[in-house]
Amino acid sequence: HDYSKDDIRQMAKDQDVQFLRLMFTDLFGTIKNVEVPISQLGKLLDNKLMFDGSSIDGFVRIEESDMYLYPDLSTWMIFPWSSDRGKIARVICEVYTPDNKPFEGDPRNNLIRVLADMRKAGFTDFNIGPEPEFFLFKMDDKGKPTMDLNDQGSYFDMAPMDLGENCRREIVLTLEDMGFDVEAAHHEVAPGQHEIDFKYADALHAADNIQTFKLVVKTVARKFGLYATFMPKPLTGINGSGMHLNMSLFHDKGNAFYDEKGDLQLSQAAYYFLGGLLKHARSFTAICNPTVNSYKRLVPGYEAPVYVAWSGSNRSPLIRVPSSRGLSTRLELRSVDPTANPYLAIAAVLEAGLDGLNNKIVPEESVDRNIYRMDDKERRESHITNLPDTLHNALKDLSADEVMRKAMGPHLYASFIEAKNLEYDAYRTQVSKWERDQYLEQY
Ligand code: GLN
Ligand code: MG
Ligand code: MG
Ligand code: MG
Repeated sequence: HDYSKDDIRQMAKDQDVQFLRLMFTDLFGTIKNVEVPISQLGKLLDNKLMFDGSSIDGFVRIEESDMYLYPDLSTWMIFPWSSDRGKIARVICEVYTPDNKPFEGDPRNNLIRVLADMRKAGFTDFNIGPEPEFFLFKMDDKGKPTMDLNDQGSYFDMAPMDLGENCRREIVLTLEDMGFDVEAAHHEVAPGQHEIDFKYADALHAADNIQTFKLVVKTVARKFGLYATFMPKPLTGINGSGMHLNMSLFHDKGNAFYDEKGDLQLSQAAYYFLGGLLKHARSFTAICNPTVNSYKRLVPGYEAPVYVAWSGSNRSPLIRVPSSRGLSTRLELRSVDPTANPYLAIAAVLEAGLDGLNNKIVPEESVDRNIYRMDDKERRESHITNLPDTLHNALKDLSADEVMRKAMGPHLYASFIEAKNLEYDAYRTQVSKWERDQYLEQY
């Protein structure tokens, strides 16, 4: 929406908005809120609202602890639920330094910067259609999530009307109230697992939508006594939750990935972009799969990718070309999971694709066989490599890739690698139940 300041003042008044929730996203993809009463609206609209950024992850830099929130008016939205004292509106903000510069530790600012580079390269839009998956767990009487799933349904099941189905339906209705265009909502393969797909949007708003989506899913689930989690692999032995990203690049003449006369009706630009994605796949994995748990999902047997390859037909590879062409021509990246910070993940894949375009990187041949049935030798002969198997290894690849440093900017790149190495170390030094079960009595 193209709201003016006056539009916003009017909407706030007409709908009795009493609180403003100012949102931004930290390094780890967590939504941060500063809530202020409506009396602060004028200050907000004049970019004069200050907050202390020193305790926000990835923002740490003592001399810059005073930060300003500049609202992106296009993200203004009044929540369909309200407090007893009136309605709450939210607006997504850009974090600025006291000398009026976009703060480079703000992942959203970073995506804005990468999108500007994309425009300089001659493109108009990078569109993203996400497919987030999540689990619904029952809660205990203290409101804490349990490991009890809510149903035994599976893919596209017409489950008997249960709490999970009702909850998902309510999520969809709430999203629609908030202006989302929901294209599909279905039960996923695993029990208790769901997927909701909403319409593609330009990169920045797609990332905003993903953040809002997670908030809505969690909020509505709670009302049903359920806990929604986007953890990639909550249970051993059943499918994890991914967040496939469908992407397309546009220029003045339309979808830059489409060429009626090209191989598979894909353009040369699509092939170079794909070449860039494949080249940097190992190094953007730490960004798209940023938790220790992410790597428990990226294993064979659960419809999640393990190998770096692409296909026009097969479902198992890292990148797939869905069958629609023309304006909907797109590449589907299947490794991403919902713990990824969407601003960083989208910046990373865009920068990887642009590198492919700049350097005319030709992708390997597509692999239309089942990669999981090939042996190591066959995979080697087809030049198929593995995705990193741990956060530790993923970070090594990320640390060695200049293009990813460019994608994140030096500030975010350094803070991310440092924080994630600490996270991995904390995990590595924990003794787990699996180890005790395995070794305690054996030795
Ligand atoms: N849940 C699978 C994953 O981890 C995807 C399943 C699907 O959408 N076909 O990516
Ligand atoms: Mg899907
Ligand atoms: Mg799915
Ligand atoms: Mg998909």
